[in-house]
Amino acid sequence: MLNRENMDLHFNIELEKGYKSASQISRVLTEDWLAHNMYCPVCGATILGHYEANRPVADFFCERCKSDFELKSKESKTATIGHKIADGAYRTMIDRITSFRNPHLFVMTYTNWTVNNLLIIPNYFFVPEIIEKRPPLKDTARRAGWVGCNIEIGNIPESGRIFIVRNGVEEDKERVVERYQRTLSLQTSRLDGRGWLMDVLKCVERIPDNAFTLNQVYAFADELQAKHPDNNFIRDKIRQQLQYLRDKGFIEFTKPGHYKKL
Ligand SMILES: [Zn+2]
Repeated sequence: MLNRENMDLHFNIELEKGYKSASQISRVLTEDWLAHNMYCPVCGATILGHYEANRPVADFFCERCKSDFELKSKESKTATIGHKIADGAYRTMIDRITSFRNPHLFVMTYTNWTVNNLLIIPNYFFVPEIIEKRPPLKDTARRAGWVGCNIEIGNIPESGRIFIVRNGVEEDKERVVERYQRTLSLQTSRLDGRGWLMDVLKCVERIPDNAFTLNQVYAFADELQAKHPDNNFIRDKIRQQLQYLRDKGFIEFTKPGHYKKL
């Protein structure tokens, strides 16, 4: 595997010449930065291809593993990612998720034209529940009635938020690819199954200790019931999902009712 030099976290601000709108400048600088600095977090290939502007589905692709990526960025004076990030049309987003066509997502925050955080969220962590519908644009807006969406990044399990740059420091590339590969087993072909898996994984991640008991996960039963009001067998579902997580190598059964995170 080829290794690039360390990333230069500064944008090429020469490129802002000729643009007036702040959102356009931000898009040009962030996309240029990614095209010049980012490797493929899925397979480790050294370069990513850049689709021509305004392609509706994705911004970048990897020639080697055929992955597609979208980049969303925001300026953050506090250098934090926050709970959500704005994305495009609500309907398009939901259609892409329910038809399994959504690209992987890069989320970037920057301050003073310098990257402070960059993470990759694999597309199989996306479920309709993390997409928040924004109010329609006012009648006075150019695109009156248009409905956008926010991605609730904070509701994605931690395993699905893989840092590439954290607080201005680049993570080791091998580790990024390794962490990515580890999540591959969580891909599911059914969306309701994906939702349950993500929900139970999040509960497990919220338990502070590495070793935990079934009762500690059952403590989330009310919360899960509220999310899945039609399911009358929440505890059975929890046990089933823990079994999946064991089969997928995320947790281990140590003795009946006792588990360990791996
Ligand atoms: Zn690749």
